[in-house]
Amino acid sequence: MYFEHVEFDSHEKILFIHDAVSNLRAIIAIHDTRLGPALGGTRFWNYADSADALGDALRLSKGMTYKNALAGLPFGGGKAVVLIDPAQGKSPALLRAYAEALNQLDGQFITGEDVGMTVADVDQIRVHTPFIAGSSTTRAASGDPSRFTAEGVYRCLLETAEVAFGSMDLNGARIGVQGLGAVGWKLAEKLYKAGATLLVSDLDRTKTRRAVDVFNAIETAPEWIMRQEMDIFAPCGLGRILSDESVAALKAKAVAGAANNQLSHPGVDQFLSQRGILYAPDFVINAGGVLNVAAEAQGDYDCEKVMKQVHRIPKRLRSIFDRSKATGRSTGAIADVLAQEILHQVNKAA
Ligand code: NAD
Repeated sequence: MYFEHVEFDSHEKILFIHDAVSNLRAIIAIHDTRLGPALGGTRFWNYADSADALGDALRLSKGMTYKNALAGLPFGGGKAVVLIDPAQGKSPALLRAYAEALNQLDGQFITGEDVGMTVADVDQIRVHTPFIAGSSTTRAASGDPSRFTAEGVYRCLLETAEVAFGSMDLNGARIGVQGLGAVGWKLAEKLYKAGATLLVSDLDRTKTRRAVDVFNAIETAPEWIMRQEMDIFAPCGLGRILSDESVAALKAKAVAGAANNQLSHPGVDQFLSQRGILYAPDFVINAGGVLNVAAEAQGDYDCEKVMKQVHRIPKRLRSIFDRSKATGRSTGAIADVLAQEILHQVNKAA
């Protein structure tokens, strides 16, 4: 069942964890450790079922391999998902049981924050394991990574605007932000300051209402945002929102957002390109957070140094746009090839 799974891609290790006392149900997927120990966040989510959770873990962990490789990090790719029952939430016992599961892997997997997780959760888990970063309490504490992710995505959105429209000036541009969580809100703040008109959606309407008040944003129902007239669409919620159907209806001229695994299948970016929509590959532009977490994991955290690394991401994106233009291949395919080239170099060196 696992080896035949549609999302399975030569993953090195998949660990299923169940702790009856705390009712922890988690899946840790280690995709590739050729570049170093696997590094990737843990997602706490109310999955429909365990098959859904497994698919997410397999897909997201492969994305981390590519993201870490392109970001130049000495880490492989992995990701964990914890199946949360909203009625139960994240109890201290559950977080402790999860920390003990991380200890079993003895550093083969180092994790951090993802959707459904906070710095406070990281701090609680950190009490029981050294294999988590993004805390607020340790010597090299790096804290919430979303500020770095949002900064990288914002800079890359400007780069995307320049390639798509010939200008980085966002004054008056209509930008759709899907998901106003840790990253989406900070991105919206920057876009608003740059003069953009924001269309916003979130499953949680308190967030969209707040954006209407604070950013004078236009509130849109989650199922409608991709059908609105806009210049740039910035997906910052969950993944797989770019499907054949949604892209056919998408009115934006470019897509640049933080969400991981935006493409519902690998061919969708080709379809985006056929429709004249410039796609900034997610795992290239949202690497700010992992750069921040990686600095803590390496025990040498310097916020300014990380920001400098984040500011180099747009140059990488531009080279992908250029190569895509020169070869006619989609931007996502080019980003995949670049990451695979880095991994092949490790094979050769071994
Ligand atoms: P978050 O949990 O803080 O926020 C996600 C928000 O998206 C929530 O408000 C949620 O209600 C909303 N949402 C989910 N599905 C939606 C939908 N279909 N329509 C509208 N809103 C929806 O998460 P985050 O940390 O801001 O991360 C957002 C995305 O960026 C995720 O895909 C995450 O994997 C990715 N990402 C985050 C970081 C980081 O530093 N936090 C780094 C890299 C990638």
